[in-house]
Amino acid sequence: MGYHEIRFEPDDRYNAFLTTCTRASHGDGRLAGVAVAVKDNISTQGIETTCASKILKGYVPPYDAHAVGLLKQAGAAIVGKTNMDEFGMGTTTENSAFGPTLNPSDTGRVPGGSSGGSAAAIAAGMVPLALGTDTGGSIRCPAAFCGIVGLKPTYGRVSRYGLIAYANSLEQIGPMGKTVSDVSSLMQVIAGYDRRDSTSRERPYAHTPSKEIKGLRIGIPEEYFGPGVDPGVTRVVRAAIGRLEELGATTKSCAIPSMDYALAAYYVTCTCEASSNLARFDGVRYGPAAETKKSWHDAYQDVRRAGFGLEVRRRIMLGTFALSSGYYGKYYAKAQVARENVKKDFAKIFSGVDVIAGPTMPTIAFRLGEKSDPLPMYLSDILTVPANLAGIPAISVPCGRSEGMPVGLQIMGRPFEDERVIDVAYAYEQAVN
Ligand code: GLN
Repeated sequence: MGYHEIRFEPDDRYNAFLTTCTRASHGDGRLAGVAVAVKDNISTQGIETTCASKILKGYVPPYDAHAVGLLKQAGAAIVGKTNMDEFGMGTTTENSAFGPTLNPSDTGRVPGGSSGGSAAAIAAGMVPLALGTDTGGSIRCPAAFCGIVGLKPTYGRVSRYGLIAYANSLEQIGPMGKTVSDVSSLMQVIAGYDRRDSTSRERPYAHTPSKEIKGLRIGIPEEYFGPGVDPGVTRVVRAAIGRLEELGATTKSCAIPSMDYALAAYYVTCTCEASSNLARFDGVRYGPAAETKKSWHDAYQDVRRAGFGLEVRRRIMLGTFALSSGYYGKYYAKAQVARENVKKDFAKIFSGVDVIAGPTMPTIAFRLGEKSDPLPMYLSDILTVPANLAGIPAISVPCGRSEGMPVGLQIMGRPFEDERVIDVAYAYEQAVN
């Protein structure tokens, strides 16, 4: 087996890493000698994994997530765990208990979230590749804000075993990198069936990107260029779509009427699932120490109040409320109906086009502290959550700048057509470089 010395210089200016570790890798696989950063909600054997939460401080997983095991088999070196919004709840990485990550393009701005540490580490050139997770945009948003590439795979294509759950029915682990080819290589390593994830599907990914997109039909949803989307972002993304037309694609306008309810459906679903998933954290083995003389109930309350940040507590309460008897039908059940409608709208559009294109985010990266209210922060997820509700693949690829900041072009595809969204992103990237 080969031994590889890894070149890895973490740059502390951006607070992208919560933990840094090995600088060597063993093996001769596809990623031999490559430094890979891993988001801190993905379990790494022997390496502290906190989800950027005080409640998990000191937790060292006794096992690897499936995706991490595959990275090691491929010869990659896990060089560190990246900063994120606590448990993935956020769009800026400001909700980390360990301080925000800064955007390498402008340190007065956020890198996006929740996989902000992974995106910043790549954008600043610290690592070529990273794993992120995307529940409602957490790979694509920071990819767009930092000017790198990020793919949210089709639901079921990458095992969630060892991912510390935030909202199981929505989230996927996915590849992030500087270029589309890099992202595709990482996807080759992490995709495939795993019996330890009951939603895993037998759909390995063995694709090499192709830039041939002649005859490709692209749907342009009017909602992705509507009110609330920055004119600067619209201009850059429209120009990028024009580039795809020059390469032989055709475009056709389409509509996603269920977009009116998509954000509400997402926030009800994710908070309900979070309230259940996060009930297990009791601070007994790690996290803030509990006062031992108190009753279990009081100690549990104290520990959770001290261990969870404001946004996490807000979401646990919202989800608990929405699931409580008498309200379940009014909120959770309705959200599932809206979710079905999103799926149906996509299925209908995909009967006439091959992919859908639009901006990844409605604006450029916010200034630090700019979105201090939860609602405007939630609203900025409007263009990314539909893909999670429908379980379809979606990629963000850099397509220019507005006010000096990177803008992302988002390409969404039919379920299990991750290869196609990769190809479209690749065709675009090759044409502009
Ligand atoms: N910003 C969204 C949220 O706060 C998405 C986060 C994510 O994908 N993990 O839930």
